[in-house]
Amino acid sequence: MFLGEYDALPGLSQKGGATYYEPLEKEGSGHGCGHNLLGTGAFSAAVAVKDYLEQNNQSATIRFYGCPAEENGSGKAYMAKAGIFDDVDIAISWHPGTFTTVMTCSSLANYAATFKFTGKSAHAAAAPHLGRSALDAVELMNIGVNYLREHIIPEARVHYAITNAGGTSPNVVQPYAEVTYLVRAPKKQQVQEIYQRVVNIAKGATLMTGTSLEIDFEGAASNLIPNKTLYDAMQQQILEIGMPAYTIEDEQHAQAIYNTFTPEVQASALVGLYREDAMQLKDQVIANHIPNVLPEFVMGGSTDVGDVSWNVPTVQCTTVCMALGTLLHTWQVVSQGIMPIAHKGMLQAAKIMACTAVELINNPALIEEAKKEWKDRLDGEAYVSLIPEGTKPPTL
Ligand SMILES: [Zn+2]
Repeated sequence: MFLGEYDALPGLSQKGGATYYEPLEKEGSGHGCGHNLLGTGAFSAAVAVKDYLEQNNQSATIRFYGCPAEENGSGKAYMAKAGIFDDVDIAISWHPGTFTTVMTCSSLANYAATFKFTGKSAHAAAAPHLGRSALDAVELMNIGVNYLREHIIPEARVHYAITNAGGTSPNVVQPYAEVTYLVRAPKKQQVQEIYQRVVNIAKGATLMTGTSLEIDFEGAASNLIPNKTLYDAMQQQILEIGMPAYTIEDEQHAQAIYNTFTPEVQASALVGLYREDAMQLKDQVIANHIPNVLPEFVMGGSTDVGDVSWNVPTVQCTTVCMALGTLLHTWQVVSQGIMPIAHKGMLQAAKIMACTAVELINNPALIEEAKKEWKDRLDGEAYVSLIPEGTKPPTL
């Protein structure tokens, strides 16, 4: 089964190919995470495997899952909760990147919710004693959570945004205000535990301010379960397929994009690689070398692929689709998304995924081994969705 994402990001509109910042549309959306390539590449892999099976008179069930709203909507978490991955053997996907390698990382589980406080408006000077400030509640909640930080595991992250400060007039006691919180931690249970403490702080803020509280669920993702059996098998395919050929124009464009990065960003381009790989790549702007497989680590973000990986052994790779050092969620990703470097990386990923699937189809023992590893890693823990019961996916 192949997973395809295709959502864009708000505020990242950018002219394709430009080597300077130029939005096409003010506050428009743009493919700042390369999901235009992700969905198409995964779909190409599905079609290639179908063709292979037909040409070789073999039979297997290949599915392509179009997955909406990865960035902000927990699309796959809703899909997993609905059980649509339950009868799948193996999930295969990829993500555009700056290196061609398998993903050995786990990701942080997360949970997002909006805390909506309601108080009473009043004239802030003439009758402040009759008002109950929802903005005070938001501020006190934030202060409480900022004190909480010292007493949670260091790997956890808690972010917030005040999405409604209650108005623009200081002369009105703000009757309504809201703040959105995002809690992340390496494991689902850790996220649930920290989130519960955040809820208690919010309740404390209502007691302090005489306001009431409503909490709206915004989204959640489980941590990603890596699978060594599968990423080792995929790495074999990466090494066999190799890197695409790049032209002088590809290099020149990548260099021009690279020149837009701050020295700090340029210096971070090779961080995390083995020294020998970093040495190989140090003078390149397109990473035309396949680095050694990295040891497993927890990446600093979250993905709803995590929920898939709790239900079915999952494997992913990245391929070079942009200049070395390019950071996801920036205009430089959008700009490069229509360039030959991106198309080459997309087709390379499609080949890697398709060949991995064929290898698995032709070698069922490998699938069994991957399933056994997956069971061992979960260690008897059943998948429980972080999405509250009865919650429907948000629609526009
Ligand atoms: Zn992405």
